[in-house]
Amino acid sequence: MSHLTTTIQRSTVEARRSACPGLFRMAKALDGGICRLKLTFGDLSAVQARCVADAAQRCGNGTIEITNRANLQIRGVRPEMEESLITALLEAGLGPLNDRGDDVRNVMISPFAGFDRTRLDVRPLALRVLTILQTNLLYQTLSPKFSILIDGGESVAMVDHPHDLWLSPIDLESSAPRFAFGVAGVPPTQADAQPALGSVATGQALGLITGILDIFIEWRRAHPQASRLRHMIGETGADYLVDQLELRLGAPLRSEKIANWRRAPARENGHLGLWPEVDNSNCFVGAMPLLGRLDPYLLQSLAELAAKYGNGKLRMTPWQSVLLPQVSIDDAKTTLAALEALGLVTNPKKVLATMISCSGSAGCGSALAATQSDGLKLASLLQSSPAVPPIHMSGCSKSCASPSAKPITLVATAAGRYDIFLCATNGPSRFGKLLAANVTIDEAAELIGENSGSGGPLYA
Ligand code: SF4
Repeated sequence: MSHLTTTIQRSTVEARRSACPGLFRMAKALDGGICRLKLTFGDLSAVQARCVADAAQRCGNGTIEITNRANLQIRGVRPEMEESLITALLEAGLGPLNDRGDDVRNVMISPFAGFDRTRLDVRPLALRVLTILQTNLLYQTLSPKFSILIDGGESVAMVDHPHDLWLSPIDLESSAPRFAFGVAGVPPTQADAQPALGSVATGQALGLITGILDIFIEWRRAHPQASRLRHMIGETGADYLVDQLELRLGAPLRSEKIANWRRAPARENGHLGLWPEVDNSNCFVGAMPLLGRLDPYLLQSLAELAAKYGNGKLRMTPWQSVLLPQVSIDDAKTTLAALEALGLVTNPKKVLATMISCSGSAGCGSALAATQSDGLKLASLLQSSPAVPPIHMSGCSKSCASPSAKPITLVATAAGRYDIFLCATNGPSRFGKLLAANVTIDEAAELIGENSGSGGPLYA
């Protein structure tokens, strides 16, 4: 990739109105530029991982974040190193298919897609959608936040994060499996959840997705400020969309059965520890780096482990953790021990296995507190408490680290002080019900510790 090509790509992309970081567009933060690297289904080869580690060291401040869409962010990029960073990442094969395709690389599948017994392998469909998004001139105009979930019904899957469009399989045991679909939300798992809008034969899934994109883009011509499907549905209602889809696909999509369908809940913390693959001779080994962050040494070390024990690839997950696929059963425990020796957490019972945090005042001008150091302090105070649910530390109410409410959210109110919300008890806030306001980390630890445990109110 020549310097000239890189420059052309940047100028094209920077003309787009967006504050979202991308490969060519470094969002400015307190600690420097943020370069977001979109990975295809979270995958990174060991060679690419070494390249990212080296680039983060040379061009940034060494912090590499795993995002809740299973991508990576290199932080602290110095302005004079931006071109060098982009060139290095493109040369590593981590760029989009063309110069306007970077922003729309937002297709999520389960990190276990294709490896889960009896489930639908959605990877070929997801790859086609990813290609079409990047190469169709109209689809390239979608918002960088516009996202699609293609669920294969895997037992381990992130189905809590809302997406503009989601598909999830039904009737998997039948000879004619279908995809349920919905917009501006998540596959329903609870009785009172927003139901699916309809279902299509699996062979019509691609037509359904492109149909929804076409209908939205056509509607957007008269509503240029709209960027997400929820804006269209909010104005037109969902029936408008389904009516048009039925006309395009020439088949009924609604049914009483689909209105009552619920997805099986995903297995909690299945992305951590050992998880056998379909043939039982290999397994995934999953681990959480502290607060979902890596440094160049850690990424290099993970690349070495993937090359030595796995299939030479790392897979990032939307839980901001990392998986090593295809580790032989014989090597699994050694790999797990090696990950722990590197400081990653593999035991889901430990608080830091599931704690996430935004950059807080270490990197964000909007932060009211140092969420990362406060999070580490909270975890250490809670280390002997039993069964603490996942905790999200947020430097303000924007909730950058998590698009959905976690069981416990601490939202900063001032340096070292937080409001605590419990999602399990639902409440007026997007984070759930307020448990306590403006408390210190010591007070938060006491409250959370008192209420934790399998029978405690935090599990209500
Ligand atoms: S949640 Fe608030 S403080 Fe944290 S990164 Fe986002 S804007 Fe900054």
